[in-house]
Amino acid sequence: MLFDDHSSPELVGIARLAAASELLESKKQVEYLELETRRFIGRGSGRMRSIFTLNPYRGCEFGCKYCFARYAHEFMELRDPELFERKIYAKRFQAPWFRDELRRLKAGETIWMGTATDAYQPAERRFRITRRMLEVFAGERGLILGITTKSDLVARDAELLVRIGRKNSVSVHLTITTLDEALARLLEPRAPRPALRVAALRRLTDVGVRVGVLAHPIMPLINDSEKSIEAVCAAAVANGASSFSANPLFLKPCSQQVFFPFLEQHFPHLLRRYKERFQANAFLKGHYPEMIRERVQKVLSRYKLPPRESAEWPPGDQLDLFG
Ligand code: SF4
Repeated sequence: MLFDDHSSPELVGIARLAAASELLESKKQVEYLELETRRFIGRGSGRMRSIFTLNPYRGCEFGCKYCFARYAHEFMELRDPELFERKIYAKRFQAPWFRDELRRLKAGETIWMGTATDAYQPAERRFRITRRMLEVFAGERGLILGITTKSDLVARDAELLVRIGRKNSVSVHLTITTLDEALARLLEPRAPRPALRVAALRRLTDVGVRVGVLAHPIMPLINDSEKSIEAVCAAAVANGASSFSANPLFLKPCSQQVFFPFLEQHFPHLLRRYKERFQANAFLKGHYPEMIRERVQKVLSRYKLPPRESAEWPPGDQLDLFG
């Protein structure tokens, strides 16, 4: 059986295209493939309906243990969640098509890059699709562009972002879950070290790019202490961030398949409690999220930073923002 849901022609389409993708490169355990694409700009769903999305790559080599986006590979009949970080699809870029799509957006509309996978993951150093998209974007005006990433590679495009910002509104949102390098290496094995992300924040803010710091996901008893949250917030402020936010972890079943074995290996004492909390519901309810909200507020009030650019960055998470 190819798909659980035979009624969805889109799923058939992406799986078929994925199967036909040409191998661009294979290094160690990672394969890069080229994915033919009919359209580059997607649309959020549900409460995110008004947001447009842009994801140059499918799959993400950073391999964060909590990653919620792994299920996207299931659309391509790749059901092993580890394949999400080992089979990376680069969308075949066509600048004129992308320009046409951009021009169909109205002034004042918001487009978010990196909502499902990181636009500055290692593949970008080689294939530069994000860069090429931004170069096209620089020819447009009146749009709101947001980029979310946990890569310092975004600083490569600092001047280009400044150029885009002359005629559009631009903001970057850097994810920094902890400043603890060893913990970050465990949680986000192939993502740039926190210190590199902080340095990228500095480089961007030095040239006038607006950058917010996202400390999500906050994981119970892993990075949720006030000390840990405050350390990230302090680094954000010291390096010119314009906003800071931190929301609790959510774990959909496909993420649990990776996160629970990870806990078993590195935090075995937490496994039972995580299972009790997350197996029935992917989102934490009740006291815990409220406690984290208060903790973050307390830290924010000390540093006098706004929580986030609320009109632009969708509240909560990136879950509904595939595209
Ligand atoms: S950077 Fe984002 S998309 Fe990539 S593995 Fe981590 S959480 Fe997933």
